[in-house]
Amino acid sequence: VNYEAWGCLAPLYAEPIAIQEMAMMPVPPSTRLKIVGQATDVFVVESVEDPSKKALIGGGHPSAEALNKLAFPKESGLMQAQGDGPASIMTALDQLEIRPEEIQVIVVQHMHWDFEYAVDLFPQAQVIIQRREILSAVDPAPNCRFGYPREGTRKVLNRSQPDQLLVIEGDYTVWPGFDLLFTPGHTDGHQCAIVQTVKGKACLGSEVGVFYSQWYPEDPRYFPKPDWPAPYSFLRGSFLIPQHGCADPRDHEQSQRKILAHLSSETDIIRPLFEPLAPQALPYQWWQHPSDDYAAKMRAEWPVRPVRLGLAPECLEFLPVRKARLQGALSGTA
Ligand SMILES: [Zn+2]
Repeated sequence: VNYEAWGCLAPLYAEPIAIQEMAMMPVPPSTRLKIVGQATDVFVVESVEDPSKKALIGGGHPSAEALNKLAFPKESGLMQAQGDGPASIMTALDQLEIRPEEIQVIVVQHMHWDFEYAVDLFPQAQVIIQRREILSAVDPAPNCRFGYPREGTRKVLNRSQPDQLLVIEGDYTVWPGFDLLFTPGHTDGHQCAIVQTVKGKACLGSEVGVFYSQWYPEDPRYFPKPDWPAPYSFLRGSFLIPQHGCADPRDHEQSQRKILAHLSSETDIIRPLFEPLAPQALPYQWWQHPSDDYAAKMRAEWPVRPVRLGLAPECLEFLPVRKARLQGALSGTA
């Protein structure tokens, strides 16, 4: 059983790489380096063998207006966000010629505002969330409250069980070849998705290890690194654990190991969530390590592109391939 996944763009905003309020560890805050960019926040996943199986990994960002109220108020002096999470998902579905009611499942990896704001647009879909994450959202540590606005928490918890909301504990198989792993660390109840494709398995949409440099801290190519002091990063053979977390950094490292253990084949890949140039159309784009060109580009300049809604631009050239595949599948069954 194989799937395809298509990256959809989040709003553009800038945030200090280690948001201080979220830094649990007694390490110096590193606020000099800022990420400015439009990351991919949602993946549209579709089964190749049974295209009626469609899901979203990620519940979407707020609109820029809501986001600025939540995280980047004018008086903070932070750059104002641009773009719109829910509108971006709707545009992406339009580009894929998928109607919103065709989405059967939404994986909410955790209940921070950037993973849940579009779930209202899919009243029939089943939102899947970890039981422990619900507690994180309704009773967050004081330093993490800003990540869990009540408005967002309600969007998830107001849904009725089990058809619109499935609360799980631990690892779970959504459909064959589409697995959720309980991977605490960024938050206490974080989960990540691993999908099988014709080229191998891909870990998608996880806020565990959002940059290549967190998975390969000893590899000199990967940015950002020197500007990001983090616990354990001095230990050889360990991962770079971000300060950007609400839970136990030891759980975070454990979760990274767990993800790697599930990606056992040489062709399996991790798709770090915040890497703007990582594979967007899977399996058409497929690499574990980016090229040296990629690393050089990232080091020289964090790519900032004009703000847009919908699929990441890299997906567009592959849409006709998908369309031909779907038409072929239809005529095959006719
Ligand atoms: Zn988060």
